[in-house]
Amino acid sequence: MPIADPHAVGAEDCLATLSVPPAGLTAEEAARRHAEHGPNLLPSAPGRGPVVRFLLQFHNVLIYVLLAAAAVTAALAHWVDTGVILAVVLANAVIGFIQEGRAEQAMEAIRGMLAPHCAVLRDGRRQSLDAAELVPGDIVLLEAGDRVPADLRLIETHGLKAEEAVLTGESVPVDKGIQPVPVEAALGDRHSMLFSGTLVATGTARGVVTDTGADTEIGKISGMLAQVEVLTTPLVHQMDVFARWLTLFILILGAMLLGYGYFVMHMEFAGLFMSVVGLSVAAIPEGLPAVLTITLAVGVRAMAGRNAIVRRLPAIETLGSVSVICSDKTGTLTRNEMMVASLASADHVFSVDGNGYAPEGAIRWREADADPEDHAVLMEFAEGAGLCNDAVLNDAGSIWRVEGDPMEGALMALAGKITRRGADPYADWLRIDAIPFDAAHRYMAVLHRSPEGERTLHVKGAPEAVMMLCADQRMPDGGTAPLDPDHWAARVEVLAAGGQRVIAVAVGQPPEEGEPLHKDQMKGRLTLIGLIGLIDPPRPEAIAAVAECHAAGIDVKMITGDHAATARAIGGMIGLSNPDSVLTGADIEVMDDVELAKAAVETDIFARTSPAHKLRLVSALQSRGLTVAMTGDGVNDAPALKRADAGIAMGQKGSEAAKEAAELVLADDNFASIAAAVREGRTVYDNIKKVISWTLPTNGGEAITIIVALFAGLPLPITAVQILWINLITAITLGMALAFEPSEAGTMRRPPRPRDEPLLTGSLIWTILLVSILCLVAVFGVYSYAHDQGYSDELARTMAMNMLVVQEIFYLFFIRNIYGTSLTWQAVKGTPMVWASLVTVVAAQFAVTYLPPLQRIFGTEAVPLRDGAMIVGVGVVFFALIETEKQMRLALGRPKTAQG
Ligand code: ADP
Ligand code: MG
Repeated sequence: MPIADPHAVGAEDCLATLSVPPAGLTAEEAARRHAEHGPNLLPSAPGRGPVVRFLLQFHNVLIYVLLAAAAVTAALAHWVDTGVILAVVLANAVIGFIQEGRAEQAMEAIRGMLAPHCAVLRDGRRQSLDAAELVPGDIVLLEAGDRVPADLRLIETHGLKAEEAVLTGESVPVDKGIQPVPVEAALGDRHSMLFSGTLVATGTARGVVTDTGADTEIGKISGMLAQVEVLTTPLVHQMDVFARWLTLFILILGAMLLGYGYFVMHMEFAGLFMSVVGLSVAAIPEGLPAVLTITLAVGVRAMAGRNAIVRRLPAIETLGSVSVICSDKTGTLTRNEMMVASLASADHVFSVDGNGYAPEGAIRWREADADPEDHAVLMEFAEGAGLCNDAVLNDAGSIWRVEGDPMEGALMALAGKITRRGADPYADWLRIDAIPFDAAHRYMAVLHRSPEGERTLHVKGAPEAVMMLCADQRMPDGGTAPLDPDHWAARVEVLAAGGQRVIAVAVGQPPEEGEPLHKDQMKGRLTLIGLIGLIDPPRPEAIAAVAECHAAGIDVKMITGDHAATARAIGGMIGLSNPDSVLTGADIEVMDDVELAKAAVETDIFARTSPAHKLRLVSALQSRGLTVAMTGDGVNDAPALKRADAGIAMGQKGSEAAKEAAELVLADDNFASIAAAVREGRTVYDNIKKVISWTLPTNGGEAITIIVALFAGLPLPITAVQILWINLITAITLGMALAFEPSEAGTMRRPPRPRDEPLLTGSLIWTILLVSILCLVAVFGVYSYAHDQGYSDELARTMAMNMLVVQEIFYLFFIRNIYGTSLTWQAVKGTPMVWASLVTVVAAQFAVTYLPPLQRIFGTEAVPLRDGAMIVGVGVVFFALIETEKQMRLALGRPKTAQG
């Protein structure tokens, strides 16, 4: 059944060869073909197998150092040390392997959530389908902004252009049509085809699937397949680089100490060597990049749970610093559940009853039912509404659903109500040509042949846009009178002031038989029928989310293509700060960049804007140093989305082009999800900072202890194997808990973080130094106290090691709340994750201190109860000290400089 050279045969022949009935494939036939051809998926890039992933865990400078150390200790016949080093290396690799696997799974799941959908005709109905389900013979409906889901032979096109750069390298969109082209035509010249992976730039089309999956042109090109995205952000990358240089620094320092100890201090080589190994292990933050990656993965998953799907990881960081959100109105701040509420003709205003998208309900005039028999104009409303329409209404049991644009669904329901002919009253009319709706010209025009054979031209769109095309208006007697723009403008104001979205409908003389529709030849030749007012209530959760953003110091701006009065009414209902001043696209046109920057900051509502204005607004706000999040759905929104610091596309009504340009996709199109994503973004940033703030001083404390001991010629208060234990088992377990930290209570009551704020702020560096020194003091203090008591070296070391771990635990609780006190019940109660790692670490610590086999390996001795209590007591004092120091700083610096 596969068809050879579909581009060279006629559309009809192609349909016949693929045995496609006019109503599209049936569900059974589609299932049969799916079984035969398999899913419409490109073969995925081969991922790294588990073995490779496990081996990669050993590809790490610290591990090399440790393996070298194992070799040296083996050569010196220090078998216990060798064994411990190897065991720790292995344990570390296993932990890393498992954690990395989890992070990759999280990313994989999210990739699945972005699976593309497409509109197909099956069983005579338009339906939305996962693109993987497509089979050869499916009829696919496409519009501007869609990614072509398979190779298609075109069967109907209207102003279609496709951007085929992925396939041909040609970035200028090419015209497409249904005429066959010569067999030998090159890919770029096959104008009768649309190829999988290319983008519909303008127009609409219908095409029949000729090839799917690996059989498509793009499937045949290997090496172009989706590349695996690395799990990183600028910040994490920065830490990665930092960690690498730090490693080098520590290794040089270690070599220096080795030379100094051996040649100058004449220390015994084996012991000295192990000290230097201990130092490297202590100071190199080798676990840090891994924990940061986990932190990101946890954040990505948390955002996905709140319906915000991250496409580019750096967006997680950016979202946390967003200071202004520019949002669409329709569907994002409002519910996008539209219903026609009123109709305004030249002399009547009708109200419309009904329930959701059900195509039945009364049209009333002055409280009485209005009959289309008495009001001929109603039939013209119905034709305008029902013919200029690509939506389909489906009866889903108790409720009616829209396939397509909700506004058009509401208009289709209106047509059903007026004609009393159900959900598809114009099924027997044939569409000859169309000019699709575009946010730039704001109307849609259609050319039809009625069942009586008459050709008709209908237009619907934004009132100003439609009136520009009109010369006259329909009068009650069925005749026409010259257009009275002031009268209509006043009517629009009245409807819009109530928050209604207003659409105008018009009719006109169709062009000559055989001529296509053309924008220019409609100008000034249409007859205005009247206005249609639609209600679209605000989302209650959006109102709460706007308030949350305001509390978080984030400005919310509404950018809409809708009328200024509608925008103002909705803006008031949503709770925007400054709902009375509205800037329109026309106002923006006459401003230069400087004026616009000033106005953009002050204004919260922008109406009758086009996508080009969005782009200018983003730049204007950015020029004022703001970090801008911008939403968008159409193809033309792509530049603004790219330009914005965080571009946010709509998952449901958004085009593929917009999604691909965006950093974030909202699964539910809901403004509240943006606020949730900002909260998660701030949390992830905080957690990254917490992980770093926790890791650096604990490493620092250990390293300083060893360096001081070496230089002072003192015995090490903690042995190298003990340091290994603490770092690779205890510290990883504790540090990991921070990756899972929930948002702090005040997260959305803080102002946004400045865009250029460095990670290592003054207060963070100060904390690192302070904690490092306190660790040093406590460890040496406990060690010399034990000596004073006449304890053995082993016991003194065991106490020193436990001291360090106790400090790390207390410091963990301290760092969990960098913006507030750690002494609330909520803070102490912690999270299951914190307690799980705490219990693990405490149990491990007891084991290493009290179990004889471990005692032999790590050279430890049982610590007497009284001294154990004392160690915890010192921990409490340590905690009290750093906590009061934090409170002092918070008291002076609140709120901006609170801990960086
Ligand atoms: P919004 O910001 O509310 O999503 P749009 O840019 O989608 O605004 O639409 C702008 C205006 O264009 C609307 O107020 C409406 O008058 C008109 N419009 C929107 N969708 C259509 C359509 N499918 N057909 C005709 N006109 C439309
Ligand atoms: Mg819209």
